[in-house]
Amino acid sequence: MNFRILTLFPEVLEPYMSASIIGRARQNGYINIDFFNIRDYTLDKHRRVDDTPYGGGYGMIMAPQPLLDCHKAALSGLSGSTVTLYMSPQGKKLTHEKALELSKYDNIAIICGHYEGIDQRVIDKVVDEEISIGDYVLTGGELPCAIVVDAVSRLIDGVLPDSECYEGESIASGLLEHPQYTKPYDYEGMTVPDVLTGGNHKDIIEWQRKAALKKTLSVRPDLLETARLTKEDILYLEEITSNTED
Ligand code: SAM
Repeated sequence: MNFRILTLFPEVLEPYMSASIIGRARQNGYINIDFFNIRDYTLDKHRRVDDTPYGGGYGMIMAPQPLLDCHKAALSGLSGSTVTLYMSPQGKKLTHEKALELSKYDNIAIICGHYEGIDQRVIDKVVDEEISIGDYVLTGGELPCAIVVDAVSRLIDGVLPDSECYEGESIASGLLEHPQYTKPYDYEGMTVPDVLTGGNHKDIIEWQRKAALKKTLSVRPDLLETARLTKEDILYLEEITSNTED
C-alpha cells in the first residue's frame, strides 16, 4: 500500500508516522508513506497557496493550481488501483467498513485541507471521496489523515501479527470489546475478576462475551442492531435489561 499525502504541514505528520507500529510497517515495507508539500507546487512568486473566497466570507481558501499540480506529482509513477481522498467535515464518516474497503487499494492519495478548506474545483476534478472523522471541525486535515492512515494500515497483511488482532476488537467484531486486565493481579486493592485467573477457558470465553454484551448495551446499544448474536446472547441481554428495569 502506498500512501501519498498532500499537506502544507508534513512536519506534523512525519513523527507520528515514523513511530511505533506504523513506523515499523514502513521500515518493513508493508506500507510506503510519501509526503508532498503543497506549497512546493505553487507558481505564485510569494509562495502563496490560498486566497480570499469569491462571494466574500471569513478566512482563506486553498487555491486550485498548487493542489492540482501537487496531486499530479503525487500520483506519478504509481501503478494499480488508486483512490484520492479529501479529509473534510463534509465527508462520509470513517468507519471500520470504510477502512477495510480502502485497505484493498494499491494506492491512497490523501488531501489535507487547511484554513477554510479547498477550492471546489479540486474536489470536482480529482477527489473520489470526501471522508470525515466525526461531526466536529478541526483546523486542518492532518490529524484526520493520520487517523485514516492508521486505521487502514493496521488492516494490511503483515502490519499486525495476525488478522485475529483486529477481528476480535471493538467495532470490527460487531460489539465493544470486553474489559482487559494485565499484571499485577492486585493493584492497590483492585483485583482482576477471578474467572480470568482460574484457567477454565470455557468460563473465560463466556465471561468475556457477557462483559462485551453488557458494555455494548450500556454504551453503544445501536451496535446490537447489526451484531451477530446467538440465542444465548439474546437471553443474556434480556436478563440484564429486565434486571435494570426492576
Ligand atoms: N470551511 C469548512 C467547512 O465548513 O466544511 C471547514 C474547513 S476546516 C476549518 C479546515 C480543514 O480541516 C478542512 O479542509 C479539512 O481538511 C480538515 N477537517 C476539519 N474537520 C474535519 C473532520 N471532521 N474530518 C475530516 N477533516 C476535517
